[in-house]
Amino acid sequence: MPELPEVESLAEFLREHAVGRTVASVDVVAFQALKTVAPPVSSLGGVTVTGVRRHGKFLDLDCDGVHFITHLARGGWLRWRADLSGAKPVRPGKGPLAVRVRLAADEDGREPGFELTEAGTQKRLAVYIVKNPDEVPGIAGLGPDPLAPDFTPESLKRLVGGSRTQIKGLLRDQKVIAGIGNAYSDEVLHAARMSPFKIASSLTGEQIADLHEAIVITLRDAVDRSRGLAAKDLKTEKKSGLRVHGRTGQTCDVCGDTIREVSFADSSLQYCPTCQTGGKPLADRRLSRLLK
Ligand SMILES: [Zn+2]
Repeated sequence: MPELPEVESLAEFLREHAVGRTVASVDVVAFQALKTVAPPVSSLGGVTVTGVRRHGKFLDLDCDGVHFITHLARGGWLRWRADLSGAKPVRPGKGPLAVRVRLAADEDGREPGFELTEAGTQKRLAVYIVKNPDEVPGIAGLGPDPLAPDFTPESLKRLVGGSRTQIKGLLRDQKVIAGIGNAYSDEVLHAARMSPFKIASSLTGEQIADLHEAIVITLRDAVDRSRGLAAKDLKTEKKSGLRVHGRTGQTCDVCGDTIREVSFADSSLQYCPTCQTGGKPLADRRLSRLLK
């Protein structure tokens, strides 16, 4: 799933390649992806892209006051196309293509644009056409952005204070902090040398400061690594930059221990026992419950 660094990089890429260009057409192929009815999709035709920004994991193309906003969900991706002039029309229900956005032809007759695609059978990719980004429920309820200058150790302290949630769950909660998902929460906790099962309210002031530093450094590094990469290369870069997430059974770069996995909520998390849990493997609660 694209998280804050990937969406930030996509936003930067589109700022460079799409801003200032006119939208020729928006074709919605997967009808279930479109979550709004007014303004209609057709209202974007002929309008200039004036800005691109990110809200948590949402990508927002401002088309002169009408916003084309997407959440790529678990299997979604944005693919930049240098020339869509020869692209065939696509019938709904076939393949991963969900939405195609064509921009007006350039001097060379090429029609650049982008496609939103979604792999897998669970279709969760969402597109909203709105006048105000806050009309998107997931955006209105977002917590602070961890890359914003006013995200300080003090603001993190206010966010975790009193929460009886495990820190892994809290970091992933978009209403608490915007943009961190399953992969980067694993990475942040590894960088902070902290157990994912630690209860948020039990963190000391020093641990909160360490966690804050780990959040900001991990996300900034990931954004910096992705900067300048074409949209199609971002996925590979994300994978190669991860130190624990998705690396079960591999060696921890920091200490040489073997990275382990344990089930958590609707998926699983990865961690290094030596770096994060005093060398002790975490108990798989879901498994032990089943065995009782
Ligand atoms: Zn380690």
